[in-house]
Formats: sequence, structure tokens, C-alpha cells
Amino acid sequence: MLECADYCGVTSGYHTNKCADAGIAWSRGAVLDVPVLDDSPYCMEDITVPVSRTADILDEIESIARRHGVKIPCFGHAGDGNVHATLLREDFDEDAWREARHRVLEELYQATYRVGGNLTGEHGIGAKRIGYLPQFVDRGQIEVMKAIKRALDPDLILNPGKVIDPGNSESAS
Ligand SMILES: [Zn+2]
Repeated sequence: MLECADYCGVTSGYHTNKCADAGIAWSRGAVLDVPVLDDSPYCMEDITVPVSRTADILDEIESIARRHGVKIPCFGHAGDGNVHATLLREDFDEDAWREARHRVLEELYQATYRVGGNLTGEHGIGAKRIGYLPQFVDRGQIEVMKAIKRALDPDLILNPGKVIDPGNSESAS
């Protein structure tokens, strides 16, 4: 476990600065050194897996990180399986980063669903994950989201263009 933490440059620290809740800071035996996020632009993910599969997804993330040469320190909420896998851009130029981030996210989400997880457990789909919604979320679930959106926001004035377009039955957006 510490091998992954070492690879990701994780030493010590806490995940309480952005998610002030009852979460427990952790990263495979070491907790996140917050300055890691100060040293590089990053893409923080919000995957959630069954608690019993947390070790499995961390193994998958370690493998993905090594395969793509992207450091992915993880922290989050040990009690509910919410893992903030955080991709560090470091020295990637803009084009290389966009490509690497997309490939890593696809593999990360695929691994997440393989272990029974989902795209988000705390921060939501928003604009960031909307492109991945139809690929990973069951069409029936999306239709339920659209029905709720229509019921609560019939004039479509709340957060237009984000997550769900109730008028479009072909896609999530
Ligand atoms: Zn959090």
C-alpha cells in the first residue's frame, strides 16, 4: 500500500479542507499531504465504490496511474467508499494532459463500474462528468433523472444545460 503512496508523492496530511464532513483522510496507509495539490494543477474525481471494494479500486487506480504515467493520489471518505482519485497534471502540456486525462478517466470509470461503483458520490455530475454519463449510467436511471428535473424545474430555469436536458430523449445532455 505504501508503494502507491510513495509513487504518488503522498506523505502525510488531511482531507478536511474542502470537504468538511465526517470523512476520514486516507490514502493506502498514508494520508494525503495537502501541498501535493498545491504543486500541480489537478483533476479531482469523486468515484464511489462499495466499501468492501475500496482496496480493489485502489489497486486498479495504482495500475492505471503506472500505465499512463499520471500520478493519482487518493483520499476521501473511508466510511462510505467515496474516493477522491486526484490526477496530477504536473509537466504535461495542454494537449498531452487533455488526452492523458481522458484516457485515465475512461479507465478509472470502467474500473469503478466493474467493482460496483459509480461516477460520483459527493460532488455530482455537473458539467465535468456529463460527457461520461450516457456511457456509464443506465438509460433508465437517466430517464428517472430527467423526470425529476421536469417535475422540479418545469420551466428549465435552474442550471440550464447541466447534467440533464429533459427534452432530449437520445442522450443525457
Ligand atoms: Zn470529499
